Amino acid sequence: MELIKNKIKEINISEKELSILSLIEINSFNTNGFLPNKEEVFKAFNTNTISENISTCTLAFSPSFELNSNLNNCVFDKEVSLKLNDKIVGKITKTCTFENDKAYTSIFNANTCKLSKELNPCLSGKIEIFDNEFKKVKLALNKKIAKDNAKKITALLLNADPITRAHERMLRWTIDKADLVIIFVVEGYDSNSLNYEAKRECFEYYAKNFLPLERIFPVYLKNIDLFSPYLDPNYECLLASSFGANKLVIGQNHQGLGLFYDNNLAHTAIDELSRKSGLELIVLPEFVFCNKCNVMVSTKSCPHGAHHHIKYRSSMIREMLHSGLIPPTVLVRKEISAKLLAHLHPNRFKNVQMIYDGLFPSNGIIEKRSDEDLYKELITLYQTSYMI
Ligand SMILES: [Zn+2]
Repeated sequence: MELIKNKIKEINISEKELSILSLIEINSFNTNGFLPNKEEVFKAFNTNTISENISTCTLAFSPSFELNSNLNNCVFDKEVSLKLNDKIVGKITKTCTFENDKAYTSIFNANTCKLSKELNPCLSGKIEIFDNEFKKVKLALNKKIAKDNAKKITALLLNADPITRAHERMLRWTIDKADLVIIFVVEGYDSNSLNYEAKRECFEYYAKNFLPLERIFPVYLKNIDLFSPYLDPNYECLLASSFGANKLVIGQNHQGLGLFYDNNLAHTAIDELSRKSGLELIVLPEFVFCNKCNVMVSTKSCPHGAHHHIKYRSSMIREMLHSGLIPPTVLVRKEISAKLLAHLHPNRFKNVQMIYDGLFPSNGIIEKRSDEDLYKELITLYQTSYMI
């Protein structure tokens, strides 16, 4: 009797876990809405992926030790509620447990190193999230696909951290060739990554002003750091395919891609999965600014070599922004730089109005100016060439 009384009926989860569980519920990783059990975890691990060397992530879900303390030797109820910040947000039914295999990273902690020896057992079962935001997004997407009668649907994962001219080029290239482009805007994974909301604001600004909105469908994957160029791209394939895409655009620099050439043919670690799921994979070459061609080129189409190429390195651009410098406009659009500098350096100026009014002529009407306005006008002024 004592044992039944102590059955675990609820567990605490983090926002990140809620986001990934929400994706699993809508079958984003080919598990029919289930958290896989031990056999399925390893079956999926071995059959979904061509290269076991690259695929080091499993779908095993172990409730966090920090949020739940030690759950080893506990008996779980068949129905376990999921609690986020004292609110029940969903449940797992038909719950079973299995031992946590420390050898594999799981998608729930893809970027964290498991230093702790204290790990809870893994849970399997059917997931139900009460207010699944991704379910609503997918429904809206399906409606749009049906309404537009879109046939060529391309997905791309965008870590616009920040959004550069190279991203812009990639987006336009993709839109040109598709009826509809699903853009998954993902979280950054570096220590100096931009805040997701700032990133989202910049992307929305860019999309609203410079992209044909009827041809794109953004999906914001906040709190999910699973999709980085260092991790298994098979999950990107499964995600894109589950949202209805038939093509996936991926940069050649994706380190998990394992791009190699055999008999002059490009091969990647996800060829087999892409064949199985019917998802065509498009590997894009790297875009750079060539100071000989004096335009943006792909490394494949320019003959001048790396010593003439300025790369769109996001980490370097972020470092400039964090230091308060304006990145060159051949790298980042001025409106984006202005937004990010204002966001990263709040209350920087003692008197922004004084600088603004001193530098820029006005028609006599005094308008209140923000830091963002100042940066934008300054960038324009920096680009003005001076002749006597
Ligand atoms: Zn060139």
